[in-house]
Amino acid sequence: MSDSQHDRPMNCDSPESLAAWLKDRGRAHGLSLVGVTTATSPTGFARLEHWLDAGYAGEMGWIERRRDAYRNAGGVLPGVRSLIVGAVNYRSEDPEPAGTTGGRVARYAWGQGDYHNWLKDRLRQLANDLHEARPGSRSRVVVDTAPLLERDFARLAGLGWFGKNTMLINKWQGSFLLLGAILTDADLAPDQPHETAHCGTCTRCLDACPTAAFPEPGVLDANKCLAYWNIETKGPIPEEIASRMGEWVFGCDICQDVCPWNRKSPRSTLPEVQPSPDLNPLDLAAFLEMSPEEFDSRFAGTPIERPGYEGMRRNAEIVMRQRET
Ligand code: SF4
Ligand code: SF4
Repeated sequence: MSDSQHDRPMNCDSPESLAAWLKDRGRAHGLSLVGVTTATSPTGFARLEHWLDAGYAGEMGWIERRRDAYRNAGGVLPGVRSLIVGAVNYRSEDPEPAGTTGGRVARYAWGQGDYHNWLKDRLRQLANDLHEARPGSRSRVVVDTAPLLERDFARLAGLGWFGKNTMLINKWQGSFLLLGAILTDADLAPDQPHETAHCGTCTRCLDACPTAAFPEPGVLDANKCLAYWNIETKGPIPEEIASRMGEWVFGCDICQDVCPWNRKSPRSTLPEVQPSPDLNPLDLAAFLEMSPEEFDSRFAGTPIERPGYEGMRRNAEIVMRQRET
């Protein structure tokens, strides 16, 4: 429900006024960017098919298994007519030097808990506002939890363009953005898609990638990406990748850290994205002393849980070993 009488929908009879009100409400719920698009078949579906056919998804078989489902948002919410796409800027503090015993953790994992949960909660508050304005409408909140091309819909909703590093970039908020969407059967006036791109002749992200993981600008081969290997895989990491992990014990931000669009993006004050002191950086010596029980008690319900105890030990040992050589 809206949090005051003042905030209640006054003139939301038209798709235009309802969309405008919801965008205001989304910002009040802590979203950095809010846009609206119609539930068309996303233009990025063909790109997804090429990417999968080229084998660039590595062993992320769940994407292949749900391939067709990405074609149409109607599979996620039958009867869907509009999407409200929200983005939260998670750029908080700068990374601290890793020093001789630290390991770097991707910024999106620095905050409190798992962003999927708290971002969903914030989007649910916005969905409640929508239901208040349109009683009887149906909606579904998605944060990376359903076969939905969220980044594509974000571009269609006018939130930004795809950089050569494949990330969604917004001129004012940069690319450290967490995305989520509300699908609804209500009619909402769409925003203009973001049709222009603003990378120009820059190639910083392509040049800085330690594993040359971009076969072409805007295309990522996960088989070469550090973040794929140190988060998504369980077994040994091939030597040609491990030897380039550097300080990265979980994920990798290099291709975003070097992007000029992130230089002046605002610092987020959202409590959920403020860094836990033990993750910026992670003390690897102390980490390697942890028992499985201590790992669970500290990292259950956080992104670090994904590679798990064994996966994170593997990563930490690689980073430590490289320091010794
Ligand atoms: S996350 Fe790191 S390894 Fe992956 S593409 Fe970006 S710079 Fe390369
Ligand atoms: S580093 Fe340059 S090329 Fe890469 S995404 Fe940013 S602006 Fe685009």
